[in-house]
Amino acid sequence: MSTLEHVAGQYKTLCFNAIANSLEPLLKQAQDNELSYLQFAQLLADHELRQRDRKRIENNRKRASFPVPKFLEEFDFQHQTTITKRQVNALLDFSFLDQRENLVFIGPPGVGKTHLAVSIGIKAIDRGYKVLFTSALGLIESLELAELKGELKNKINTLLKFDLLILDELGYLPMNKQGMYNLFQLIHAMYEYRSLLITTNKDFTAWGEFFFDDNVAVPIVDRIIHHSHIFMLGGESYRLRKKLNS
Ligand code: ADP
Ligand code: MG
Repeated sequence: MSTLEHVAGQYKTLCFNAIANSLEPLLKQAQDNELSYLQFAQLLADHELRQRDRKRIENNRKRASFPVPKFLEEFDFQHQTTITKRQVNALLDFSFLDQRENLVFIGPPGVGKTHLAVSIGIKAIDRGYKVLFTSALGLIESLELAELKGELKNKINTLLKFDLLILDELGYLPMNKQGMYNLFQLIHAMYEYRSLLITTNKDFTAWGEFFFDDNVAVPIVDRIIHHSHIFMLGGESYRLRKKLNS
């Protein structure tokens, strides 16, 4: 075994995998650029840290379970004029996440709510935040399952690990009393602690019927909108326009 292989193996043992995997090119880079000892030490540390960051972001992308990747760069603000690029860009400093504020996108089908939600989620992950995408229906189902197993608290605690929880398509279908109660538990636990991004086709005034009971709808809505940025999206469906133009 060459000394190079031996040293690479030692780095591996120390869990410095990025250095272990690129020791030779890193040495060459140091030689070519006549780096000082300190610069070389820094090069190794930077390389390892950068790779770990990249890995973490990659894993967070997978854990986010986006249905389809959507990017802000692909969003056509000429078509969707009820929200401006400037408004969306203003969100990308992610102070809303640091301040545990919520985002709500309200509007009819096809106007780009989910696209915006996913692409903002992807940007947040790139900035180091943890994001989980769920359909409202899927989330309510999984809360219900956890509740039946007596594990609702655990389930909620798992969800609280994410900085941002995207709840897509809230209000498309009504939910039962237990579902509503479980959701209330979650939203109560997240209040001023974690951020929600909700997409919905229903205006808040109509949430009473969706939540089955105004007595629960009011405190839920109250907690969601207390610290939130609300965007009312309108316009014609992007899907429909594509279809009509093709
Ligand atoms: P909603 O969630 O409001 O029902 P979606 O975000 O799912 O709508 O949009 C429907 C489809 O149209 C998606 O494939 C989405 O990527 C695309 N789309 C919607 N609005 C735009 C837009 N302004 N620019 C580019 N694509 C868009
Ligand atoms: Mg949608």
